[in-house]
Amino acid sequence: MKVNKNYANLQENYLFAEIGRKVREYTAANPDKKIIRMGIGDVTRPLAPAVIAAMQKATSEMGVAESFRGYGEDYGYVFLREAIRGHYVKKGADITTEEIFVSDGAKSDVANILDIFAAGSMALIPDPVYPVYLDTNIMAGNKVILTPGTVENNFLPMPDATVDADIIYLCSPNNPTGAVYSAEQLQKWVDYANEKDAVILYDSAYEAFISEDLPSTIFQIPGARECAIEIGSLSKTAGFTGTRCAYTIVPEGLTRDGMNLNKMWRRRQSTKYNQLPYIIQRGAEAAFLAEGFAQNMKNVAYYLENATIISKTLDELGIWYCGGKNAPYVWLKCPNGCGSWEFFDKLLQEANVVGTPGAGFGKQGEGFFRLSSFGSRENTEEAMERVRRIM
Ligand code: PLP
Repeated sequence: MKVNKNYANLQENYLFAEIGRKVREYTAANPDKKIIRMGIGDVTRPLAPAVIAAMQKATSEMGVAESFRGYGEDYGYVFLREAIRGHYVKKGADITTEEIFVSDGAKSDVANILDIFAAGSMALIPDPVYPVYLDTNIMAGNKVILTPGTVENNFLPMPDATVDADIIYLCSPNNPTGAVYSAEQLQKWVDYANEKDAVILYDSAYEAFISEDLPSTIFQIPGARECAIEIGSLSKTAGFTGTRCAYTIVPEGLTRDGMNLNKMWRRRQSTKYNQLPYIIQRGAEAAFLAEGFAQNMKNVAYYLENATIISKTLDELGIWYCGGKNAPYVWLKCPNGCGSWEFFDKLLQEANVVGTPGAGFGKQGEGFFRLSSFGSRENTEEAMERVRRIM
């Protein structure tokens, strides 16, 4: 009997467990201190009223024989795929409903999409980045090349023509750095991918936070339909981290190695997945229609205002950072040459503020730190006041 030994090559992910342990120990020793959590990647604002109303209506429909629904459509109900398509058409990206595959999460899609690529593929992964990309490639037994994000490239690694890759991961706006690629930069990645016959996996989980004139989908870039798959999520856009809904877009004409990737993903999903509940899909539809969308954008604006409060504090303190403008994360360089964990301990003990050590997102994250804007206004303001006091 043999098991997938690639799992032995995974590094233990201590990041959030270690943060939890340190916070618990500190709180036990200092029960009177109020801890402010700015490490979370989870949202705190409630679901939009239009989304709730749509889910309530759908729930009632489920209790009536005439409108009851059992198994849904394989790739998501057409009404939801139409709503997602509408969102893309507004951005100038003309995708079809046949190219949209609804799912329960960008995390699952990012992981599952590797099913359609050959084991042993060469994956190009930014460092630092959302750790799921690296771990899922290790599990699949793929080869990995890390592309370093640094202060010099503003944490936006660019292609190197001398490096060959099969699968290229791009995350923009980026978790954890909040950095966003410009259209010119994405064009270079698209041209590189087409030249190398590679496929870009473009994670747009934070696209709703783009407030400046920057691309919010890879399909705004000429040539992307020939090389890119985009994975989007309602988690941060519409507060669906607990409700769950995401989607993957695979262009109908995307072919590699004599195979059509849209058809492969279609086959993969219909074989291994049975779709989200009708109730959730109605809620997700409402999130993309005018009323719900406007309500969601108010929440996004609320988080962005928090990010501005964080950025302004760092400006005042003369601390280097990126992100925070078109992203919910602010990525700062730990002052005085501090290590990520050293700075974590200082903030916890002296300011009672919890952030996320950059080292947890890759080797290049050492010496950096992520602050999240997903908390309340009150907590963000108080946390920044405390940071000002200790620096
Ligand atoms: N992609 C990125 C870059 C993320 O940061 C996250 C969540 O933190 C996800 C995907 C997961 O999204 P979902 O909640 O849709 O699984």
